[in-house]
Amino acid sequence: MGITGWVDSQIQNPVNSKDTPESQADIVGEVQGQSQDLSSVEAVVRGCKACVLHQSRSNTVFGSGSLTADWLLVGEAPGAEEDKQGLPFVGRAGQLLDSMLYGLGLNRDEVYIANVLKCRPPRNRDPMGEEVRKCEPYLHQQIRNIQPRIIIAMGRFAAQSLLKKTDPIGRLRGRVHEYDKFGIPLVVTYHPAYLLRSPLEKRKAWLDLTLARAVLENAG
Ligand code: URA
Repeated sequence: MGITGWVDSQIQNPVNSKDTPESQADIVGEVQGQSQDLSSVEAVVRGCKACVLHQSRSNTVFGSGSLTADWLLVGEAPGAEEDKQGLPFVGRAGQLLDSMLYGLGLNRDEVYIANVLKCRPPRNRDPMGEEVRKCEPYLHQQIRNIQPRIIIAMGRFAAQSLLKKTDPIGRLRGRVHEYDKFGIPLVVTYHPAYLLRSPLEKRKAWLDLTLARAVLENAG
């Protein structure tokens, strides 16, 4: 149920040239905890040179979807295809993500999809702590503006970055956390790219998504 298409049959059943994190945070109103219009934050991101990733990116990938979405899905960082198109989750993992959303009766236009990092790490290497720190104010502004009712952290990296924890994903998923800074419920699930490699885990991912849906339903 709700699983069609993504659970496999076995389971059927203006340019910123400053480079300190403080100046980045200041520019997008993070220091004051102010909300800034997302299109101006996106413009700042487009010109961001706060970390080395600006040197190798083709495009920044800010995020896409509804600016009034209940659901905010957060991945790790753009991959090659996302870097080319400037949009999140447009590669194979994105197709699976679409199917997962479809299972929930949602489509991309009804949710908001973003990443912890707005630029692609070269050769898809793991993001570095400093890169996350400098990019974080942008995600915070997305959250301030959109005010989602639930956040889904997709994959170990997004989960650990958002929750500031080092526990393995297997221990973080399957329960409801809170995104401290904003008091928004947060559910961890597997990254769609991992699910492509490990399709047997799709069942657990589906449980995570239904848990998130129940959080929304119970909140009324
Ligand atoms: N993986 C991610 O974490 N984000 C994307 O946008 C694409 C692939």
